[in-house]
Parts: sequence; C-alpha cells; structure tokens
Amino acid sequence: MQRASVLTLPTCTSCNRVISPDEKAVRFPCPSCNRITIWRCEICRELSRTYVCSVCGFEGP
Ligand SMILES: [Zn+2]
Ligand SMILES: [Zn+2]
Repeated sequence: MQRASVLTLPTCTSCNRVISPDEKAVRFPCPSCNRITIWRCEICRELSRTYVCSVCGFEGP
C-alpha cells in the first residue's frame, strides 16, 4: 500500500500561512504581470487584506 505523498501546500500571499486543501482559499494569476499565482487564504479574503506580488510589486485587494 502506498502512503499519501507529502504535498507541497501553497502559502497565502498575504499572511504566509500554509493553506490547507479544504480551505476556501482562492488563487489567481497576478493581475499585473501574470507571472505568478497569488494565493489568498480564507481569513485574508474575509478581512480583505492586501497582497503584494513578489515579481512586479503589484499591490491589490
Ligand atoms: Zn492569508
Ligand atoms: Zn505581478
């Protein structure tokens, strides 16, 4: 029997928290440069925290 492989969990772009797979997190490409995927955890979505793209420095809600 094979053990479940350790997944690399994404981290929230706003708070750097590890996002669990059952969370209602959202991900989308950076609206400015389109080069990285922005992750936002449930909490940051609720609190409307800002994120900063690590590639182009775009700041957004
Ligand atoms: Zn977060
Ligand atoms: Zn960007």
